[in-house]
Parts: sequence; C-alpha cells; structure tokens
Amino acid sequence: MDVCQELMTKLDSLQKKYEEENQESNLVDTRKYNRASSLGWAFDCQRYLVLKRLYPELEKFTPVQKRRFREGKIQELLMKEEIRAVGIPVEKIDPLVWEKYQIRGEVDDIIQLDGEKYPIDYKSCSAAAFAEVSQASTGQELMKSKYLWIRHYPAQLITYNHLYDKAGGILLFKNKESGEKHPVYVERNDGIMGQILEVINDVNACVAAAALPAAIWCDACKSCGYAETCWKEEERKEKEIKRIEDQDLELLLKQREDCREEHERYEKLDAQIKDILKNYHGEFNIGDFKIKVSKYPKIIYEVPDDLKKQYEKVIEITRSTIKYLGGAL
Ligand code: SF4
Repeated sequence: MDVCQELMTKLDSLQKKYEEENQESNLVDTRKYNRASSLGWAFDCQRYLVLKRLYPELEKFTPVQKRRFREGKIQELLMKEEIRAVGIPVEKIDPLVWEKYQIRGEVDDIIQLDGEKYPIDYKSCSAAAFAEVSQASTGQELMKSKYLWIRHYPAQLITYNHLYDKAGGILLFKNKESGEKHPVYVERNDGIMGQILEVINDVNACVAAAALPAAIWCDACKSCGYAETCWKEEERKEKEIKRIEDQDLELLLKQREDCREEHERYEKLDAQIKDILKNYHGEFNIGDFKIKVSKYPKIIYEVPDDLKKQYEKVIEITRSTIKYLGGAL
C-alpha cells in the first residue's frame, strides 16, 4: 500500500473512533438534559431543542463539521494548557445540572483573576471567523451577529454564569491559523436567562409529552442539522435553490463584499475564494451569496501553431460568478 494512503487510513480511523465515542456519550446526555451549549437555539427554533432531546440521533453533521468538532477539542486542550502555563489559578470544576429546568452544563474552566472567579470557555476558529468575532467585545454584540453559530455562544456562557453563580464569564477565541486570541466578556444577564428558561419550560413539556412543535421555516433552517428531518427535499428546494454550508467561505465572501474599495485586499480575497470554489460545482447559495460554478473542458495548445494538433490536450476550467443578495434571503 502507498505509504501516504496507509498514513491517511490510520488517521481516518482515529477520527472515526472519536466520532463513535463522542456520539455515544452525547446521545445519552442530550436525551436527558438540555445542554447549555445548545441554548442559543432558544432564540431561533424551539423545535430544534425538542428534537435534540427526543431524536438526537437524527441531527446530521457534515464530515467537515465532524472534523472541526475534534479539532476544536484539541485546541481547547492547548488553550487550557496555556492558561495554566501563565500561572492563572484554575479551579477544578464538575458538570452542573439545573434539575428544575433539566439543563446540564460543563464550563471549560473557572479561572481566578484579580481575586475574582470567572467561568471561561475556549473557542477555536478559522481566520475568517476570528476576524468576525474580533469585532465584538461583549456578549450582546456577539448576539447581534448574523451568523448562527456566533450569536449562539453568549447564551451558553450566560447559562454558566447562572449555573456557577458568577457575575460574568469569558469567551476566549483563538485563531487556529495565527494563534491570536480575543476575549469577550459576557455578563450575567437575568433578562436573557429568563427568556431562555421560558422556552426551556415549553421544551421540557413537549419532551414529557413526546410532542414536536410544528416546523416553521426560519433563517436558522439553512444551517440546521435537522433540515432533512423537518423538510422534504422538494420543500427545501422550494425554499432555497440549494444551500452549501461552509461557514468559512461565507465569511470570506462577506469580507470580500465589504472591502470592494480596498483593491489589494479585495483581489487577495477574490483569488482565495475562487480557489476554494474549484471544489464546488453548479448553482447554489452560501449565506447571502448566490454562486454559480461552471466547469467545462477547454482545449489548449502549448506548442507552436504548426504542431498544435499533435500536442492537443483537454484541461478543466472553472468559472465562478458571485452575486451578493444583500441579506434579502
Ligand atoms: S430545520 Fe428549521 S424548523 Fe427544523 S429544527 Fe432546524 S431550525 Fe427548526
């Protein structure tokens, strides 16, 4: 066997093992409790939270998402080590359960700074996602993000603040490519917690009665792992041409759109995006962008005219068009 192929087979088996172990423990946990990390969905779709409790096994993740989960765990361990290496006191914490609301949460660490203790959660992200989160310094600002996974982070930490009875906590973001960090302070917020708990009361009642709330099409459906459970293929087609979930590409597209006046940066992002689009084909939407990627064969000649026919070969050309839909979707 080719050595590179052998190496990849072994590494892929590790990823598979991680997915199996993770899925097993996750399924047991999510049937029993509303997980703090999912509570941001309270502001998008109650049905998602009920599905997560009743049918966690139906949630679909792409291979890229699964690899990201594992990579995130590895980065989290590295960030934990860094916090300890700089001598910040860290408290050993256990997962906590808020029985009244069937909420379970396990913060990454509780650290001590200036005599005060703070829950801290580590989030690693791509350079594109990091550029987005770096613009925020508070949880409220993150909650206004148009990106689902970003606006969901504060709900998790607000819940930890309540579970661990703290006045505020920190989301520490790390750019996986450059190693840069960006902290966001998330205050305890009784108002937001109250809104989440109201939804959770309804979720728990639905779970007890094994009753699913009706599916209502919303913006979050586009990036939801239950889209195939909630909507038939033809219904989804009706609602969207075809959507590709690629968070990094979506961010790069938005950054390209925002810097049309900065020629050099625009060209750089444009080249980066078009390079990624070589992996796609057809017409589809990514976030607010309509993309068309056509591939067609083209004959090129690399020899003098008189010998062209003799050296003729076919290569694949990728042509991409990007149209910003201005948030209209
Ligand atoms: S697909 Fe839409 S309706 Fe269904 S759970 Fe997800 S967000 Fe809710």
